[in-house]
Order: sequence, then structure tokens, then C-alpha cells
Amino acid sequence: MPTHNMEIVARCRCGKCELALKGKPIVSATCYCSSCQKAALKFEGLSGAEPVRQTDGGTPYVLQRKDRVHFGKGTEFLREYRLSNGAPNRRVVATCCNSPMFLEFKGGHWLSVYRDRLKPGERPANEMRTMTRDRPVGVEFNDMLPSYNTHSVRFMWRLFAAWAAMGFRSPKVDHVTGVLDD
Ligand SMILES: [Zn+2]
Ligand SMILES: [Zn+2]
Repeated sequence: MPTHNMEIVARCRCGKCELALKGKPIVSATCYCSSCQKAALKFEGLSGAEPVRQTDGGTPYVLQRKDRVHFGKGTEFLREYRLSNGAPNRRVVATCCNSPMFLEFKGGHWLSVYRDRLKPGERPANEMRTMTRDRPVGVEFNDMLPSYNTHSVRFMWRLFAAWAAMGFRSPKVDHVTGVLDD
């Protein structure tokens, strides 16, 4: 399991692009919101792409403080994608192999890194499901994992506590070199 001194590397599928996540992530969660599903559908249609969503429609993420995400090699391949013109949130894809790398909320102090980018042995266990009210019709969850219709208090609290620890700063991410071609 992750510890405070750990470093896990998020790597695109071809290995040209890397982000290092330092320390214990804020939370590991799977999102079922319609935006994540829509974006996943887009990314799954890119050339050479692999599934982004799980079979139940969820997209797994690991959330980490921006000041604990270090951009390594391959930033020249990063392109942003927004669901609509002027949408505040962006998802960033490594175009060397069309691997989605992370989701950034405008003004947010964290990055939601696509959990599939981590090596299987280094992926923190999923702690919760969020936004399950948007899950595909017919999907039911029959396990003990906490599942929340929206963003739970527990989820928001973890984010808030991380922000407080950062002195309520939201560092800028300026490693993304352009916009994903349609
Ligand atoms: Zn790549
Ligand atoms: Zn989502």
C-alpha cells in the first residue's frame, strides 16, 4: 500500500510520457459522471486507443495534489481536450500513443490521474465510487465499496484537507503544449 515517501509513476502506454506522483494520493476513486463517460468515449475512439471506462461505465482515477505531481519526460506530447468550447475542465492526453493522462478542474488544487496509467502493482485500491447517479442504465453495485450518487462529503473533505495542507494554493499546470485534434 502507498506510504508517505512513495513515488508512483503514471506512464503513457508507449512509455514516452511520464508524471511522478509523490506521497500518498488524496483519494483513489472511480467516477461515473456523464462528462467522464463522454470523454472516455472520445478517447476510446482515438487511433490505437484502449478502453478508458470499465465495463460498468466507471473511469478510475487517483487524485493527487498538484504540488506533488512532477512532470517528467514527454510533456511535448500532452494535448488538452475539453468537452465543449469554453468548458472549464480539461482532460489531457499523451498523443504519442493516445493515452489519457489526467483531468484538471479549473482552479483545482489537484489532478485526477487516470488510474490505468499506473503499473498494476502500484495502483492504490479503489476507495469509493462517485457520481453514480449518472451510471449506465442497468448497472448495479453488489459489493461493499462506498458508492455515492454525487460527490460525497467524505470525498469533498479529503480534497479540502489536501487544499488546507497546501496553504489554499492552486498551482498552475503549464506543461500542456496544445489542443487535441478532432
Ligand atoms: Zn505514449
Ligand atoms: Zn467524472
